[in-house]
Amino acid sequence: MREGRVALVTGAGSGLGKAFAELWLDRHGPVVGVDVAAERIEWLNRDLGRGHPSAGLCADVTEAAGNEAAVRLAEERFGGLDAVVLSAGITAWGDIEQLDMAVYDRVMDVNVRAGALGIRAAAPALRRSDGGSVVLLSSTSGTAGEPEHWAYCTSKAAVANLARSAAVDLAVAGIRVNVIAPGPVHTELTRPIKETQPDKYDALRRSLPLQRWGEQHEIAEAIAFLALPASSFVTGAVLPVDGGVTAI
Ligand code: NAD
Repeated sequence: MREGRVALVTGAGSGLGKAFAELWLDRHGPVVGVDVAAERIEWLNRDLGRGHPSAGLCADVTEAAGNEAAVRLAEERFGGLDAVVLSAGITAWGDIEQLDMAVYDRVMDVNVRAGALGIRAAAPALRRSDGGSVVLLSSTSGTAGEPEHWAYCTSKAAVANLARSAAVDLAVAGIRVNVIAPGPVHTELTRPIKETQPDKYDALRRSLPLQRWGEQHEIAEAIAFLALPASSFVTGAVLPVDGGVTAI
């Protein structure tokens, strides 16, 4: 008998992945978190007193072995896997002529390839649980071009269609695959904009109907909806959580 619903979270060392892991531990069940930064993921190996147990794994999710090790850890330590949140991501700035193609390749590897590897590693375990839910992180940057941000924008468009395609392939197994597309949210990823480009930070704020940046818990709540059976008839969907920017 497993206790609660077991979630695997990549990028759990920071930002949206970490906020989701905290929410899940408080309300729903155990968490296995993965992050490439050893010092960021250690928090999940402490006794957090949050209602459910956790385990942190330092691994690079662009490698199949890292994803497979995380799935194994969830099954061995917590008895199975019910939900997978693929939040590991990076960004890169540089225009279409200037950006080093090695940087582009890394953005695509972390934001897209790792998504595919995460789904592939988790699918057998989710089948063993009679289904489950996978949530990927796209972005409002996935539906528009942005100045000097083409690598990231390209990767986030690909994430949405990766999820739709996986949703179609895996529906027969009872595995749902969905996407959250956040607008700008205060995290480590976006801190440089706030700290070094105040004009851009404020222009982004003003571009949103709600006239403010998002907070991490607002994205975590939306991820949890897609990760839980509450959304049992939703698959292949891209849910904007963006202060209304896609409405205008
Ligand atoms: P963040 O930088 O705070 O956290 C991302 C985490 O992923 C970091 O801890 C990092 O170490 C980890 N990571 C990076 N590469 C990895 C790898 N190869 N293997 C394992 N872990 C790796 O970023 P965030 O803002 O929380 O972003 C989470 C996701 O949400 C990303 O996919 C991002 O593109 C997306 N997103 C963020 C925003 C925003 O405004 N913050 C908006 C839209 C989409």
